[in-house]
Amino acid sequence: MARIALEGVTKVFGHEVIAVNDVSIEIGDGEFMVLVGPSGCGKSTILRLLSGLDEVTDGEIWIGDKQVTDLPAKERDLAMIFQNYAIYPHMTVAQNIGFGLKLRRTKKTTIQERVLEVAQMLGLQEMLDRKPATLSGGQRQRVAIGRAIVRDPVAFLMDEPLSNLDAKLRVQMRAELARIHARLSRTTVYVTHDQVEAMTLGDRVAVLKDGVLQQLASPQEVFRQPANLFVAAFIGSPPMNLVEAKVGDGDISFADYRLPLPSGTDLSEYRNRSVILGIRPSDLEDADVWTGENRPVIEANVEIVEDLGTEMNVIFSINAPPVVTEQTQAAEEDASTETGIPLIASEGTNTFTARVDPRCRARSGSRVRLSVDPDRFHFFDPETSTAVLSKHPAGLAS
Ligand code: ATP
Repeated sequence: MARIALEGVTKVFGHEVIAVNDVSIEIGDGEFMVLVGPSGCGKSTILRLLSGLDEVTDGEIWIGDKQVTDLPAKERDLAMIFQNYAIYPHMTVAQNIGFGLKLRRTKKTTIQERVLEVAQMLGLQEMLDRKPATLSGGQRQRVAIGRAIVRDPVAFLMDEPLSNLDAKLRVQMRAELARIHARLSRTTVYVTHDQVEAMTLGDRVAVLKDGVLQQLASPQEVFRQPANLFVAAFIGSPPMNLVEAKVGDGDISFADYRLPLPSGTDLSEYRNRSVILGIRPSDLEDADVWTGENRPVIEANVEIVEDLGTEMNVIFSINAPPVVTEQTQAAEEDASTETGIPLIASEGTNTFTARVDPRCRARSGSRVRLSVDPDRFHFFDPETSTAVLSKHPAGLAS
């Protein structure tokens, strides 16, 4: 077991492509760290630098108490798991799992014992004599995981290991990885562009954009206190609703609405100016269903209703332009498509989503009254895109 640290790591390809830009991340012993971000943000490169498959341009890499920056891959004792399972088609499941041990000239009986132990952990004990061609995608990926586990490496590096699986299997394997991690408590660095995986698997999440670390925090913190507009727009599904709003004296207005400012937030610096206001879809509720304390209400015309059974997405347009910045665009490129939220915003229209109780009676074309909680509002500086800190961080109340 080992902690892993990147200290000021930069990777430049050729003369121009700064794939990783001065990134420092310390991963605790036994921690599950997820690197997440849109395509091209540098997450796979970080993994390759950690593994020793690529060399850093600048900075240091530490594993345990050892600086390994210049150490070749095979001396780092890390196991990598990729999306393409990389198992040998001519070998049986048992041979595949035990291959790494065989290379290390481990005793035959020890190999057999370890292979069986790992196969049991992964539910592969009935398939040990089968060839990969006779296995499902999920089973194959389990073999690849088994091959990594059996060696007992100091840490696992996983690069989108579930992305080749269909949606149902992905959810199943996600739970399985969480279970394996709970059992082995091995330091794990996990790369994904899927923010649901990031949120569900990570002890902490490192959000990257253009090779630069945007935020490093627990999934809850990244969701509840995104450090900037990019993180706000990237993490969360459906994504956070964003609109430019004008700060008044104790209130804030956007589109056709004027709402009280949250109690603990000091926005005096922005009075009579604009901020970017962010409201999570889950922080809007059908006012007719809401039974909690009195809250302000906004009314809107419903465009589309998506009934997901346990909850409902009410999509409505508001009378304000969309927030389009370099950060929101970067986040949108990879916006989670899993939920099926249609990107219906046409030029000049800002589309909001409310994730409400399924008892909501809103229908396409009807009006909806939505209860809002200003204490859960997020604010971002329109110039810098960074979060405007509040005295009582939004969303920490419950
Ligand atoms: P994806 O999710 O698409 O795999 P990523 O976040 O893992 O993306 P990287 O593969 O780390 O991103 O790439 C980061 C940047 O570095 C990209 O701009 C990519 O084009 C560039 N890059 C990666 N490998 C090389 C290479 N060998 N030579 C030149 N440029 C590279």
